[in-house]
Formats: sequence, C-alpha cells, structure tokens
Amino acid sequence: MTRIDIPRSHPRYRSLLVREKLVEGFERGLVVPQGLIAHGRGEAFDYILGEKTHDFALAAERASVAWMLLAEKPVISINGNYAALAAEVIARLAEATGAIVEVNLFYRTEERVRKIYEYLREAGVPNLLSPDCEKTHVPGLESARGIVCVEGIASSDFVLLAIEDGDRTEALVRWGKPVAAIDLNPFSRTAQKATITIVDEAIRATENMAEIAGGLRGAAKSELQAIINSYNNRIILQRAFRAMLERLSYAASRGKL
Ligand code: ATP
Repeated sequence: MTRIDIPRSHPRYRSLLVREKLVEGFERGLVVPQGLIAHGRGEAFDYILGEKTHDFALAAERASVAWMLLAEKPVISINGNYAALAAEVIARLAEATGAIVEVNLFYRTEERVRKIYEYLREAGVPNLLSPDCEKTHVPGLESARGIVCVEGIASSDFVLLAIEDGDRTEALVRWGKPVAAIDLNPFSRTAQKATITIVDEAIRATENMAEIAGGLRGAAKSELQAIINSYNNRIILQRAFRAMLERLSYAASRGKL
C-alpha cells in the first residue's frame, strides 16, 4: 500500500515505489533516518549504472549463491533498509539456500531488532534467529554495533549482507568470515573489503540470487566449488568501474544518455 498514487506511466515509477517502501519502513520503526540517506547514495550509483543488473553483478551473485550452497552455515544479515525493501525476496532466498537469517543492526536498539524480526516473520522468512539468541561481539567492534548471535554470524562460515557500513564489513572479514556484500557503490569501504562485491540494487540482486539458487540447488559440490574458484573479485570491481566509466564517457561526449 502506498500513501500516494504513483501512476504506472511515471518514468520513475519503480524508483518511487521503492522510496515509498522505505518511507513506510521508517514510519513502522524498521528504518532509521540515516537509512533514508544511505538509500539516496545508492540511487545515485544505480542511476549511473542504468538501473539494471550488469553481467559483473550476475557473476558475483552466482558465486555468492554457490558459496551459500556449499557453506555449512551461511547467514543472511538483515538491517532495516534490507528488510523494508526485500523481506519477501529474502524469504525466497533463505528457503532456496537453507541460510540462517539474523537481524543485525548498526544503529541497534532491542526494540528495532524485534520490530524487524516480526516484520520478517510475517513476510514468511524461514530459519529466522530469535532476538533472544545468545549474544557475543565481533572482535574489534565492541559497542552495540558489534553484537551478533552465537548461533548465527558468530559461528557462520559465510555472510551475505546488504547496504552495510564499511567498518562492520571489514571487522567480519578480519574475523575470517567470507562476506558477500550487496552495495551499489563500488567505491565504498564495504565494496572494497568484501570477499564478493555485488554491485547491484538490493531487491534486484536478491531476486536474481533466489532464482540462481533454484537452478544450482541440485548441483554437485565440485561444480559449486569450480564457480567459486574461478571467481575474482578484483576483476568484478574493475568491470563495475568500467561500466560506469563507459556510461559516463558516452554521456560526456554527447551530453545525453
Ligand atoms: P562504507 O562505510 O562502506 O564506505 P557508506 O558510508 O556509504 O559506505 P552507508 O552509509 O552505511 O555506508 O551506506 C550503505 C551503502 O549501501 C552505500 O554505499 C549505498 O551506495 C549502498 N546502497 C544504498 N541503498 C542500496 C540498495 N537499495 N541496494 C544496494 N546498495 C545500496
């Protein structure tokens, strides 16, 4: 339900709908004001990318899914923006990969953790860790920012996160966790530090991964391992920057896209 009537013919229909989702998430107490600002930064990069999934993002999504299927305990880490934008699709991805889902917040309050947990539960997200889980800290992140579930991220062997802060991504990687990060900004510290960087919009990326997981679910371990072995994140980041450069060069030479 949107509060304003956006005509389907509006050239920015989808983007406006997504904004409405976030504003609703804000009003329900899922999203913090800083999350609305972070969304604007993401939108700017999506504009440059032409608001579509590129081949380099698909390759990163495929490698992430292969890793999730191969991991003993993959975890999808959920913050307010990711929940508000993509709860139903996260449900599909968790179902298809068997991943555990943990609410994990930068601006953490127990009340917001519970609200997001309930929202995900109502959206049908499986394998959801309770807000009452036993807690520990990510080494090097000793404030509330570092709280994680013992049964979730702390003991995981793969973490998928989205729209995340660089410090937390870096701390997880330092802790030895392979991290796949959905982040439209390839310049961000998250994008630069992640094991796999998915330069794509969070809803599109998660939809793609749910679909890829359906296709790879029956694959042999050796096939999944081969997908991971042939993946090179530095090259994927180079391709993301190059795609932006090409679109900008084209626009710079013509004054239009
Ligand atoms: P870092 O700390 O990693 O350098 P940052 O300071 O930009 O990055 P945040 O402010 O937490 O970190 O922003 C989260 C990131 O998520 C931003 O890089 C933004 O481009 C990206 N982002 C925002 N919305 C989306 C979205 N819907 N899909 C994918 N990425 C998004």
